[in-house]
Amino acid sequence: MARESKESRQKRAGQIIALLQKTYPDAHCELTYSNPLELLMATILSAQCSDKQVNIVTEKLFKKYRSAKEFAGASLPELEKDIQRIGLFRNKARSIQACCRALVEQHGGTVPSTMEALIELAGVGRKTANVVLGNAFAVNHGVVVDTHVARLSQRLGLTRETDPVKIEAALQELVPRELWTLLSHWLIWHGRRRCFARSPDCAHCEIQELCPSRFKAG
Ligand code: SF4
Repeated sequence: MARESKESRQKRAGQIIALLQKTYPDAHCELTYSNPLELLMATILSAQCSDKQVNIVTEKLFKKYRSAKEFAGASLPELEKDIQRIGLFRNKARSIQACCRALVEQHGGTVPSTMEALIELAGVGRKTANVVLGNAFAVNHGVVVDTHVARLSQRLGLTRETDPVKIEAALQELVPRELWTLLSHWLIWHGRRRCFARSPDCAHCEIQELCPSRFKAG
């Protein structure tokens, strides 16, 4: 099959976005949070774990610990117990404490709003930083590339890259900056509701006309 030109891919990306926007007009981050600190903690907890599971745990957690200082000063065994329903809870409890200690010592207990400062924090990589910047600070610094965004970007023929950083760069070339945060929400929502990893529901897919993998993926 002939390789698609960048112009054609850009045009198709625009059409895909228009349909996803119509399909999921209220797409948003599905983690529950009420401030940047809560979103940062929830995102650290969400690695290899469903948002639903994280939301169950954070409902109590955020009532118990209300500031970076309180997380930083918690007893580690107690914090582990508080999040033990979540996979990798021991590592995550340590990351949360180290992260919150750095917030207290270096940022006055607040969450910084730059990529450079965020990725210096324990447990925070580029993906987590993009989640926080895009959703808590409304800064379109990048595109969140999680498992859904990676899978859909490939199935939709938006990139052949497999490395998340390269996928992010490819998506940034195709989509206007002001849509980067929403783009990841739309792809994540479609990945959770239609374009499943194992058996994508191509027959009912709203963007099947634009998808080179229709009835082939899975
Ligand atoms: S047509 Fe199928 S593979 Fe393509 S986006 Fe839709 S569900 Fe996914």
